[in-house]
Formats: sequence, structure tokens, C-alpha cells
Amino acid sequence: MRHPKIRKILVANRGEIAVRIMRTCRDLGLTTVALFSDPDRDALHVRYADEAYPLPGAAPQDTYLREDRIFEIARQARVDAIHPGYGFLSENAAFAAASLEHGFRFIGPPAEAIRRLGEKTRARSLMAEAGVPVVPGTPPLETAAAAAAEADRLGYPVLVKAAAGGGGKGMRLVSKAEEMDGSFAACGREALSAFGDSRVYLEKYLKDPHHVEFQILADVHGRVVHLNERECSIQRRHQKIIEETPSPVLTRDLRRRMGEAAVRAARAGGYVNAGTVEFLVDDERRFYFLEMNTRLQVEHPVTELVTGIDLVERQIRIAEGGAVEETPPSPRGHALECRIYAEDPQNDFLPSPGYIKRLVPPGGPGIRDDSGVYAGFRIPTEYDPLISKLVVWGENRKQALSRMQRALEEYVLTGVRTNIPFLRQIVRHPEFLQGRYDTHFVPRRREELLREAGHRPEPLALAAAAVLAWLAEDRGETIQFLARMAPSPWKTSGRPGGFER
Ligand code: ADP
Repeated sequence: MRHPKIRKILVANRGEIAVRIMRTCRDLGLTTVALFSDPDRDALHVRYADEAYPLPGAAPQDTYLREDRIFEIARQARVDAIHPGYGFLSENAAFAAASLEHGFRFIGPPAEAIRRLGEKTRARSLMAEAGVPVVPGTPPLETAAAAAAEADRLGYPVLVKAAAGGGGKGMRLVSKAEEMDGSFAACGREALSAFGDSRVYLEKYLKDPHHVEFQILADVHGRVVHLNERECSIQRRHQKIIEETPSPVLTRDLRRRMGEAAVRAARAGGYVNAGTVEFLVDDERRFYFLEMNTRLQVEHPVTELVTGIDLVERQIRIAEGGAVEETPPSPRGHALECRIYAEDPQNDFLPSPGYIKRLVPPGGPGIRDDSGVYAGFRIPTEYDPLISKLVVWGENRKQALSRMQRALEEYVLTGVRTNIPFLRQIVRHPEFLQGRYDTHFVPRRREELLREAGHRPEPLALAAAAVLAWLAEDRGETIQFLARMAPSPWKTSGRPGGFER
């Protein structure tokens, strides 16, 4: 069942994930093809690729979602395969099917698996049949009255969720019966405009759960393995911002049972390629299937750092008909990821795109920065404002945390607002350091984190920017820069000089 080797790949995506995928292609000696919208003309993924083709326009529906144009380019560039990355067309079953019809391998699951697992309510009933525990809830509901009756049965609070939801959108908390009418209608409208599908359903709202997910690899020969978990409970607006592995809350026994359930879930969905089974874990350590993401996840690098596996390489091998190893490497050490966003935590985390003036990413032992930008690049307003993923590895959690603290201090990025000061506060917070956090950590500690992030000087980062400005002979600016800082970075760093350790 071995398909011919893949030699040339079109990456139907942009930003950090496009660069990330192309890096593996380069390691494997494969040729890469990039796509770019008007605002992405000078983007890093375009510069990195062997070939790049324009998608005129700016809005996603005119560019990275234009299947017809993408297939046209794939034909013109004579690629063998298409990698969809995450977001955009990655979980679009019709696109996966059409790729094959046009003669291109789709580096992802079969269209049928995306269909079965992509819709939350369909996936939930499939899992329940397969004996995987699901969050208590309902199928799609027609009316607010039906929802109110179901909510009485489940017990408030409940979540109204879009059947086609994703990215933390299309979710409403309902605490009492009086709120149901309004929330049901609002969620339906939101779901229709965001996902083109107005169907909504209910889930019991779990109190302070943990989000723990398992990485799956499955091949066309029927082998399904998991590569352990990622803890993703540090979230803002129901979206992850910090992930780590191993999870501070799993015992060996719970990991074994959840891993088995994840493999069962992937099998039930007829899954092939890399995927992720997401669970919520409640305060009594019971776990429930939440959904399956039928693609590479943003946070996949933490699994790569502890296993030594290149997941994109595995995805390509699986698409070629290759076998997944029966016993994957045991994880070693601890890994953490921080998502660096161009956003303003002080302003409800609203995106803050713009021109990147200076950028000096951190380095040194155990640090990996998966970035999609460079100094001088203008972050477009049209797309997700993720700038990079800072990923660290340590022999244990303590070392990984120290390295993450250091790396965030070193990170210099000026010109746009970022969440770096906010992340610095989280990775120093006593509850985070002790591994005592759940999905409500950020909402609960928000004021405290914002206060600290707003006031605390950023000694190393500021010092590094000042030194760079000086080196660039941008001296007037350096002096202004230093003048703006009170107290001086040299003093607050507690060291004679920013970089002298
Ligand atoms: P999306 O597909 O939009 O990412 P998910 O269903 O994966 O949405 O949920 C995202 C996050 O929302 C979860 O990680 C969790 O923090 C919260 N959440 C979702 N469902 C529930 C629930 N039933 N109870 C409590 N929190 C939930």
C-alpha cells in the first residue's frame, strides 16, 4: 500500500506554521511552494519557500480559502501533495476530498474522518458509542424551549455551543433558565456568521476543569498510537496561550486510561495521520471527551521536544503510506510553550497588528522559537495575530520553567503590543509554578496579572533593545529609549550590565 514518494509540497497556509512545515521539508530535501495574499507579499513563509505564488486580495475568503485558485497553483507548480497546516482549509472535508480528486496527496486525515469528527455533536455520539466518556450534553437542539428543558435535566450552569464551533468562538455560558432564550438565539446567530451553520447544542458546564489533550499518530495500515498528553489549561477567551507536557495533574494511571481512550476515539473515527483528542478533566479527576482536532495543532512542538519526533515528518511519511512505529519513543524531560501574540492584554486581548520595529528572539540551551515574522515586517490585520511560539525543553519542570522565564525576559519585540509582559507574569505566578492551575486561572487572576504586567520593568529586554539600537548607530533613539526608562534597566536588573551574568 506504499504510495510514491512525495517530492514537492504546496503549503496552503501562512505565518509561523507555513515556515514550520517548510523547515521539515527542507530537512527532508523536498521542494516547497508557498502562497501569499497581497499583505503577505513580503512574509517570512514567502521568503523561505522555494517557489511562491500570489493569491490576489487580502481577506481569507479571497485568498487562503480560495480552493479553486489553490488547486490551479498546485497544478501549475506540479506539486505531489498539499499540507494545509492548521486553521484555513485544514479541517475542511470537501477540500481534503477535492485534493485527491485533483491528483494531490492531502497531508492530513481522510475526508470521511474529518466529516465524522469535525462536527462536535456527531463526534460526541460516535465517542459515546465507542465507550469513550463525553461531557454530559445533548444533540443539536431546535428551540430555546427544548434547550431550557434539557438544561433543567443537566443542571445549570450549561454552555450553549455551536455544533460546528472552533477557536473558542460560538460558546455561551447560561447560569439560569431566564438567560436561555437570549443566549440560545445569540449563539445560533454567532454560529451562522462564523461557521455558516446555526445549529447549537448544550454541554454541562464543568467547574474549573483542566484541558488535557493526547497526540495521536495513525497510519493507513490500521496502527494507532498516542504520544502522551499536553496540558492546555492556560487560556484566555477559551483559547490556549501556554501549553506543557507532561501535565501536572495526570497520575500514571490516569495517563494510561486517557491514552487508551484517545486511541479508541481515533479508531472510532477511522482516523489516519496526526490528530489530537481533547479532554476535560474535572476536580475529581474524571475525564470527558471534548472534541478531536483533525490536523496538526498549534502546540505540537511540546510533544516534539519531549519525544524527539518531528511530527510534520511523520505526517509526510504517513501520507506516503509509511508505517507508524509500534512503540513510540518514551518522552524525556519537560516542555513548555508560550504563544506570542500581537495583542493587547490590557485591552481585552484585542489584536494589535502593525510594523515590527525590532525583533531579537531568545536563544541558548533548550530554546526553540517557531516564528513567522522578522523585524521590518508588518503584521497584517486580516489574519490571526500569532507572531511566534516560544518553546522550551528542560530535564524537569523546574528547569523548563527557569528557561521559559529567561527566554521571555530575553525576548525583544518592539513596534507592536504583545502579550509577552503578560506571559512573564504567568510563568512566575506561584500557582503556575506549583502546577496548580485550571482553565479558569487566567480569568480568575486576570487583574493581578495585568497589574503586574503593566508595571514591571522589563530589564533584559529593554537593555538588549538599547544595546541593539546603539550597535545600529541609532544613537539618538537609544538615548531617548534610556531616558524613557526610570529606573534604569541596569539598576533594576540587579546586575552591573544587562548581559553580564
Ligand atoms: P473550540 O473548538 O472552540 O476550541 P472547545 O470545545 O475545544 O472549543 O473548548 C475550548 C475551551 O472552552 C476548553 O478548553 C475549556 O476551557 C472551555 N470549555 C469547553 N467546553 C466546556 C465545558 N463543557 N465546561 C467547561 N469548560 C468548557
